[in-house]
Amino acid sequence: MTNIVDRLKELVKDGGVVTGADISSRATSYWDPSPTAAKALVRPGSTQELSDILRLCHAHDQSVVVQGGLTGVVAGAVSSKDDVIISLERMQALESVDEMDGVAVVQAGAVLQVVQEQLAERGFLLPLDLGARGSCTIGGTVATNAGGINVLRYGMMRNLVLGLEVVLADGTIISSMNRMLKNNAGYDLKQLFIGSEGTLGIVTRVVIRLFPLAKSRQTALFAATSFDAVVRMLKSMQSDLAGTLSAYEVMWGEYFSAVTGDAGHSAPMAPDYPYYVLVEAQGADPDADTDRFEAILERALESGDIIDAILPKSESERAALWVVREDFEPVLPAYLYDVSLPIRAMSSYVERLRAKLAAWNAAAVGLVFGHIADGNLHIFVRPCGDGAAHDECDAIVYGCLAGLSGSISAEHGIGIEKKAWLSESRSGAEIALMRSMKRLLDPKNLLNPGKVIDPAPPSR
Ligand code: FAD
Ligand code: ZN
Repeated sequence: MTNIVDRLKELVKDGGVVTGADISSRATSYWDPSPTAAKALVRPGSTQELSDILRLCHAHDQSVVVQGGLTGVVAGAVSSKDDVIISLERMQALESVDEMDGVAVVQAGAVLQVVQEQLAERGFLLPLDLGARGSCTIGGTVATNAGGINVLRYGMMRNLVLGLEVVLADGTIISSMNRMLKNNAGYDLKQLFIGSEGTLGIVTRVVIRLFPLAKSRQTALFAATSFDAVVRMLKSMQSDLAGTLSAYEVMWGEYFSAVTGDAGHSAPMAPDYPYYVLVEAQGADPDADTDRFEAILERALESGDIIDAILPKSESERAALWVVREDFEPVLPAYLYDVSLPIRAMSSYVERLRAKLAAWNAAAVGLVFGHIADGNLHIFVRPCGDGAAHDECDAIVYGCLAGLSGSISAEHGIGIEKKAWLSESRSGAEIALMRSMKRLLDPKNLLNPGKVIDPAPPSR
């Protein structure tokens, strides 16, 4: 029988099939510099071409791993030497913008920041925003249901996707390119694929909901002495900013001082406060918005809820504040966690976690930050050890969620890294239904095998 790679080369012309050193010269991911392994990396130029590729792979029982910008945090896009990689790097077009309805149609290989900038030129905001914006793709953000910094106002990617096109494991094209906010004609099939991490289908095109670009933006970094004060500020900004609060990023003091320590970023304010919050609002009336924003900060300074504040006076000063929150290179290597839990449980969770980490390893430090308004905390634990240490650390971080109604994954998904923990956050019945869905859409278990859930035992 002809080798699958030769067949793929016959099917996809113009250098669309990459092999050998051209694959191994690519890093496994943003987090893992080791060489990528695969039989071939295939770059379709159209949905139809991808459909033909998947039909061929299906006929040959060939496993397929789809990769976007490789910024995912749970090893969901990692391939083995036996896989064929699908990369949508030849499908990056912003196909159309409908200014009347406020929707855009984008190919899944497009890089988030490129699309944000193309839309901003036309007066539109694509509100999904995250530190990986310069590398992550629209397809990857749909497949992981990415969250990021603007979720408290605009929701996760799921809230921004009106429709999509997807290719199933056997090559079937499902075009579900709805453009309206309302469409209750039967099951909402797009929801199946949003957050499915490449295990149910390959997303090729997406209809995205747009918002008008803001006319004013206010940013501040402030320090607070207690978590209660951080939460009081969140509530007062949510109610007094008339719905314009768009980001509320909290950094525990240890995180702030670690990223601004030796060899880190320059500290925009004293690095020894207990809590730091980077806050942003976006509105339509620059003068009134600024007055209202500053008045809230002044009141909080007077009441003692906040003890220091910086208002950037230029875009470069604003960027210097955001870099402290978004560029965590200075604290790497570390184990990265992403959990969610009710705001009221956060402080006790962090205390419990710190105590358990200290009892486990006197040198272990948990650096906490997060988008707390949507219940999301991130934790870096240092120093890193071997695989066994990682497993022990996972058990501590997830174990501390017990009884708090939290989740082991707020926005990063499951991939490989959290697979063993899925049953902490989903019931047996939910996992059984997930397996049935996987079996229905990918009966040969060829799409991103081994990620999210293990295949169901064969039915008798
Ligand atoms: P990849 O990493 O390439 O793939 C991720 C998963 O999606 C894999 O399972 C892959 O198989 C699947 N996939 C990729 N493309 C497709 C497709 N077209 N169809 C079907 N499946 C596909 N995440 C957040 O949610 N919020 C954050 O704030 C955030 N901040 C980050 C900051 C940094 C600095 C970094 C490095 C990462 C951050 N992430 C964050 C994680 C990551 O950026 C997101 O998960 C992102 O959505 C992944 O997109 P990607 O294109 O890089 O996908
Ligand atoms: Zn995040």
